[in-house]
Formats: sequence, structure tokens, C-alpha cells
Amino acid sequence: MTGALQSRPVGIVGGGVAGLTAALALRRRGADVTVLERAPVIAEVGAGLQLSPNAMRVLDALGLGAAIDAMSLPGRGVRLRDPSGAEVVRLDLARHYPEARFRLIHRARLIEVLVQAARMAGVRIELGREVESPPDGPLLIGADGLHSRIRMALNGREVPFFTGQSAWRAVIADDDQTPEAHVFMGPGRHLVSYPLAGGLRNIVAVLETRDWQDEDWSRPDDPANLRAAFADFRGPVPDWLARVGECHVWGLFRHEVAHRWQDGRIAILGDAAHPTLPFMAQGACMAVEDAWTLAACLDTGPDQGTALARYESLRRPRTARIVAAANDNARNYHLTGPKRLLAHTALRLGGRVAPGAILSRFDWIYDFDPVAETP
Ligand SMILES: Cc1cc2nc3c(=O)[nH]c(=O)nc-3n(C[C@H](O)[C@H](O)[C@H](O)COP(=O)(O)OP(=O)(O)OC[C@H]3O[C@@H](n4cnc5c(N)ncnc54)[C@H](O)[C@@H]3O)c2cc1C
Repeated sequence: MTGALQSRPVGIVGGGVAGLTAALALRRRGADVTVLERAPVIAEVGAGLQLSPNAMRVLDALGLGAAIDAMSLPGRGVRLRDPSGAEVVRLDLARHYPEARFRLIHRARLIEVLVQAARMAGVRIELGREVESPPDGPLLIGADGLHSRIRMALNGREVPFFTGQSAWRAVIADDDQTPEAHVFMGPGRHLVSYPLAGGLRNIVAVLETRDWQDEDWSRPDDPANLRAAFADFRGPVPDWLARVGECHVWGLFRHEVAHRWQDGRIAILGDAAHPTLPFMAQGACMAVEDAWTLAACLDTGPDQGTALARYESLRRPRTARIVAAANDNARNYHLTGPKRLLAHTALRLGGRVAPGAILSRFDWIYDFDPVAETP
């Protein structure tokens, strides 16, 4: 720490994972931070998050490790399965990344941990503050998510396109807390599920469809629609879906990574800068990485323009690569016909012959250490 941020006023628009992590990271380096959040109360949508080691390194460095451990489960593996429930391959995270920490957590619990730590550190969080355009101030951070006003102020209006996929999400009560994720891959559809601490289970189910859906996360749907779309999936799926009491549905849209991330006074991070499809489970993890790097860059000295340009140049290539990987994964999960047979056979064989090789393809994501890479 250089002291360059000592008592510098910083405004942050948005109190989600990106805004709160940035608030804490900046405050820990001495900044005087105010978060403006439009929600009148901090009440997070019910959904799970997989936190991978690249993000956990930051959260641990911010001193949140024990609080997160108390509210989450370890993620030890991922089981790729076909719709009959048969296993295609099991990816052993605990074995391939023995030192690293994967955690499965309810989003609301992560937000709770971040809010509490930020407030204790002296961050002001002002609720019910909807921001229409970037407020005045020497340094303003836009962490206002998918439909970011701050991104629009920097980049103008941009139009995302519908991917032809809709997703449901639901959380059910479940005693099975075996700490691994399941991905059931069917033609044109897949379903992901993993346990969350506290006897809960997260379910996300994605369907290729021509029906246009809203991009809004908070649209309730009749669970019967979810059950009907996955009626031929077997294994534990029918039992899980029978227990869905409420669910939400939304459309998956592809967005460009923002062309312009900063202008010397304003900077964006998280979904405001690089919304991603959920197929690499990296949206929140990238937001956490951004937050650390942004604070570290601003801490290198008093020249804010240089610091923000450095932040952008460090973050853009990596986030663009992860967003592209998530786009590719959407295709891989939903293969049909001979391509699907070929891919699943290759995965089965790969799992037997060189199980580590499948996971090694993701080393560049999970082995990355934003804390060690601090400028
Ligand atoms: C189904 C699904 C599963 C996912 N699973 C994972 C996963 O396993 N792992 C992972 O890492 N990521 C996952 N993600 C992605 C992750 O949820 C997002 O990338 C992450 O939440 C982005 O955080 P953020 O803070 O940038 O945006 P948000 O969480 O959207 O927060 C933005 C905040 O800004 C506030 N705001 C917005 N506009 C204004 C305004 N004008 N004025 C004031 N406040 C405003 C909002 O109220 C909100 O609190 C998943 C996403 C989906 C859809």
C-alpha cells in the first residue's frame, strides 16, 4: 500500500458483488468510499454462486475467508451427465487443484458478508439512491450491472442480442449436501445443480427456444413449465424439479465487452463492463477480480488517469477471453446428433485416460492470482 488513496473520496454506483468488493478493497487502502444503491433494502435474489479460486484469492486477501467458509460448501468436483443420469465424466476439482478453494454459496450470503465487512471498515452504503447519470466527484465507479447507466454514459446505447436461450433458476430444500456440481447435458438443453450450505440446492436450467424472454432476472414463472421442459431428464432431476415451489425465468442475451472502460474520472467493472453468459460460472468471480485490480492500480500513485488506463489494460483481455469461453460452452453443452455422440465419447475416454487433461483447459481461469499480479 502506498497511501495514494488515503482519504480520497470515491463514489460507487451499485451495491452488488462488484460494487461492494470494490468498496471494501478501496476502503482497505484508505479511500473514503460511498456506495449508492437503488434498492431500498439489500435483498438479493435467491440463487447460488460458484466461487472459484481466482476470486477466492481476492476474498481471502480482503479477510473474508472465514466468514465465507462458514456460509458455504466446498466445491470438490463437477459431474457431467447425460439426460438419463449416466455419468459422462467426473471432473475432480479437489485433486486437480489441491491447494485451491472452490466454494458454493447462496448469493444473499455473499452479499451479507460483503455488506457487513464494508460497513465495519467504514464504507457508507446509501440505499434507495437510483442514479440516472454519473454524479459529480473526482472518482466515480460504475458497478451498476447489466443495464449500467454508467457504461452507457461512457459508451452510448448498445443493443445486445437474444441468444435463443431461456434460463430458469430455483432454490429447493435438499438434505443431500454432497459438495459437487452436476451438469446434465441434453440436446438443446442443460441443467446445472449444486448444493448450497444450510440444506439448500441451486438449480439453473437452460433451454434453446425461439420464444423471446425478458433479460430481467426477477420474472416469476410457473414451475410446471420448467418441469415440462425437462420431463425426460432422469437420475435425481425429476425429484428435484417436483420440489420446485417457485422459479424465475429470463432470456440469455449476448453483450459485447464494453469498448470504453474509463475516461480518467469514471471507471466501470463487473457486469457493467463485461456481462457474460453464465456457462463458465465466472460473472461474479470476474467482478471480484476487477475490484481488486482497480483498487491496486489506483493505489500505485496519485496519477488517476494512468491508474485507470492501467486497470483497463490489465482487465480487458482476460475478461474478454472468459466471456468468449462462456459463449463456446453454451454450444458444447447443447450438442445434438453425431457431434454429441463424438463429444461425449471423447469426454468419457478422456476421463478414463487423462482425467486431469480436461480440467487443465481451465487452468488459465482458476490458477490466476489477481493478488500476486497486483501492479
Ligand atoms: C443463472 C446465473 C448463474 C450465475 N452463476 C454464477 C456463478 O456460479 N459464479 C459466478 O461467478 N457468477 C455467476 N453468475 C454471474 C453473476 O451473478 C454476475 O456476473 C454478478 O452478480 C455481477 O455482479 P455486479 O455487481 O457487476 O452486478 P449486479 O449483481 O447486477 O449488481 C448491480 C447492482 O447495481 C444496482 N444498480 C443498478 N442500476 C443502478 C442505478 N442506476 N443506480 C443505483 N444502483 C443501481 C443494482 O440494484 C445492483 O445491486 C451467474 C449469473 C446467472 C444469471
